[in-house]
Amino acid sequence: MEMNFFGFEEIPVSEEIKDFVPLIIEEAERLYGKRIEGYEMPTVDFRDAPNPFIEKWPDGRLVIVARTIVSKTNYEGCSECAHEIIHTLSPFDWPESTSTVLEEGLATEFQRYIRDEWCTGAQNPFGGHPDYPEYLKAMATVKELLEYDEDAIKKLRVEEEVIGKINACHIKKVFPDLRKGLAEELAKPLSQLKREMRHI
Ligand SMILES: [Zn+2]
Repeated sequence: MEMNFFGFEEIPVSEEIKDFVPLIIEEAERLYGKRIEGYEMPTVDFRDAPNPFIEKWPDGRLVIVARTIVSKTNYEGCSECAHEIIHTLSPFDWPESTSTVLEEGLATEFQRYIRDEWCTGAQNPFGGHPDYPEYLKAMATVKELLEYDEDAIKKLRVEEEVIGKINACHIKKVFPDLRKGLAEELAKPLSQLKREMRHI
């Protein structure tokens, strides 16, 4: 896709990002499958929140809450939105602390992809999650799956549309020849991975 954010680098994060969010959503759907039905196209709201997150309203509205404090430039803002956009493909009621390695790793990988492919010059190497090694480990685990089959997420979503509900059985059914242990690594909660990494 032809897309260039050159010119954003030194500009503080701005409302302008909102115009790019539908394009980032389109790219996420192209790579990983369509958004589930029942929700409107996500919008962005900038707040001084401690973390980026998704607001899910009963009427089907989805709001990506991005941070004005951390997202100092539009590059960083887009990168942060890209992570949250993955969570809007198939919103799920569990808090992020119980979200799987597959979902968080995919969100972080897409964040990396948007930063590297669309936002050349971004300062912060991982946008929203620079200090969290478990997100980077989850990203590496998802990359192993995507290197095995670049359409893996679309294929898994035929089995279970909601990314956060994809379990090890789904993964083994769709990819019976995957490296031993990878399905379990992908399906475990990120919080469990975090605990394991702290004990190393
Ligand atoms: Zn996340």
